[in-house]
Amino acid sequence: MTETPATVRPTTIDVYNPADGTLAGQVINESPARVVAAVQQLRHAQTSWEAAGPRERIKWLMALQDWILDNARHISDVLQSETGKSRADASVEVPLIADALRYWTTHAERFLRDDHPRSRSPLGIAKKLTVTYRPHPVVGIITPWNAPFVMAAQDAIPALAAGASVLVKPSEVTPLSAVEFARGWREIGAPPVVALATGDGVTGAAVVDNVDFIQFTGSTRTGRAIAQRCTHRLIPYSLELGGKDPALVFADADLDRAANGIAWGGMVNAGQVCISVEGVYVETPVYDEFVAKLTQRVADITQGQDTTAFRYDIGALATSGQRDIVQRHVDDAVADGATIRTGGKPTGVGTFFAPTVLTDVEQSMSCITEETFGPTLPVIKVADEAEAIRLANDSRYGLSASVWTGDRRRGERVARQLNVGAVNINDALANPFIWDLPMGGWKESGVGARSGGAYGIRKYCRPQAITAPRIRPARSELLWYPTSRLKSTLVEVVMRATAARGRRRFGL
Ligand code: ADP
Repeated sequence: MTETPATVRPTTIDVYNPADGTLAGQVINESPARVVAAVQQLRHAQTSWEAAGPRERIKWLMALQDWILDNARHISDVLQSETGKSRADASVEVPLIADALRYWTTHAERFLRDDHPRSRSPLGIAKKLTVTYRPHPVVGIITPWNAPFVMAAQDAIPALAAGASVLVKPSEVTPLSAVEFARGWREIGAPPVVALATGDGVTGAAVVDNVDFIQFTGSTRTGRAIAQRCTHRLIPYSLELGGKDPALVFADADLDRAANGIAWGGMVNAGQVCISVEGVYVETPVYDEFVAKLTQRVADITQGQDTTAFRYDIGALATSGQRDIVQRHVDDAVADGATIRTGGKPTGVGTFFAPTVLTDVEQSMSCITEETFGPTLPVIKVADEAEAIRLANDSRYGLSASVWTGDRRRGERVARQLNVGAVNINDALANPFIWDLPMGGWKESGVGARSGGAYGIRKYCRPQAITAPRIRPARSELLWYPTSRLKSTLVEVVMRATAARGRRRFGL
C-alpha cells in the first residue's frame, strides 16, 4: 500500500520587499512543538513577573522605551524593507509605541490596584470585600501585516504591564519588525516573558491552542476561526477585525478640511489600515464641489519606493494579492457604471496601485460591500442626513466612522446613530492611539476592544473576588447547619427588609 505524502511545511519563510521584490529577510516557520515549548517557558517565567508587581514591571517597560527610541531609525528601516511603506508612514510607528509605553507605565499601577467595593447587602456588610486583578498567565498576540511594529507592541505592552507573559505571532508577510521588538526586550536584559513565534497560520493555530488569552488583529475570516477554537478551549479572546469605515460629509462642512482629511484617512499607509475611510457619503448640495476638491487632493498624492528621505506620501501594497483585490473592486465598480475620477490602476513595478477616487458608486458594489484595504475612495451622493446614516449603517462591518460638519452638536447626534465602535467628528483615524479610549469593532468588525484606560489593562486579567470578615466572626453563621424554621424566617425577614420596596419589605 502506498502512502499519500503529507504536505511538507517549509521550515523557513523568506520575506520580500513588495515595492521591488528584493529579499528583506528570513524567519523560521515555527512548528507547533516549538510553540508548546515556548509557552511552557513563558508560563514558568510569568510567575515571578506577576509577583514582582507593577512597579518593577514598569521599570523594564521604561527601559524598553529607551531602547526603542535609541533604535528608532533601524526599526523604521526594517519596517520599510518588509512593507514597502513610505518613510512617512514607517516613521510614525516608533513614536506611537513610545507614547503607548508612557501611557501604560504612567497608569498601570492605578489601573491594577485592588478595588474595595462597599456592599449594602446583609451578605456583604460585615465583610471586607476585595477585587484583585490577576493576569492571564500567557497572552498570545497574533498580528497582521499592515503596521507590523505597532501591531506587535501596542497589545504586548498593557499585557506585560498587567503581569502576563506574551507570545507574539506576527504575520508571515511582515515578521521582521516583531523580531526587533523581541530583540529589544532581550537586549535590555528583561525577564524572559516575551517570546516570538514566527510562522504561518499553522504556527498561529498552535498559539491559539496553547495560550490563555488571545488578542488577534486581522481578517474577519481568520478571526472567526480563532474565536471558534478559543470557544472550544474556553479561553477568552479579543478580536479586532475588518472594517469599511464610512465618512459622512454634510453640506455645512468645511469642504477643504473634509477633502484633506478624507484623502489622508483613505490613503494613509496606502489604504492598508483597518480604520481607513472606505466609503464617502456626500450631501447633494455640496457633492460636485466636494468631489472636485477630493479628486484634486488625491491626484496630488505622491507615490513610490521611498528612501529615508520622506520623498513620497504613500508606498506599495503589502502583497500582490492585495493589489488584485483593489483592482477587482475598481473593475467591478466600473463594469457596473462607476466613474474613475483619478487613479484606477497599478503603477510602476512592485505592488503599487494609484490613489483612486470613484464616483457614481452604488451601495451594492463590491467596493462598498467588501473591505478593500487599499487606496480607493468610492463616493456616493446622498439626499440628506437620514440617508447618509442609513447607508453608512448598511454594512456587516462596524469599526469606525467620521462625520464632517460645521455643527459639532449635529456631529455628536449623528455619531450616536452610527453602529460603529468609534466616530471622529471632522477628523479621520483620530481615536485609536488615544489610549484612554476603547478601540473595538461592532458587528463583524470584532469582539472586545483594546485600550480604553483601565479596561485596556484589566482585559488581560482575571478579576478575583476575596471576602474576609471585618470583625472577629462567631462560631457559626445563620445559614450554616443545623437549619431551623426560626433561622430561615429570620434570614427572609432581614433580606426582605433590605431588598424590597414599600409594604413588601415587611412581608405584607
Ligand atoms: P491577513 O490579515 O493577511 O488578510 P489573516 O487575518 O489571515 O490575514 O492573518 C492575520 C494573522 O493571523 C497572521 O499572523 C496569520 O498568520 C494568522 N493566522 C492565519 N490563520 C490562522 C489560524 N487558523 N489560527 C491562528 N492564526 C492564524
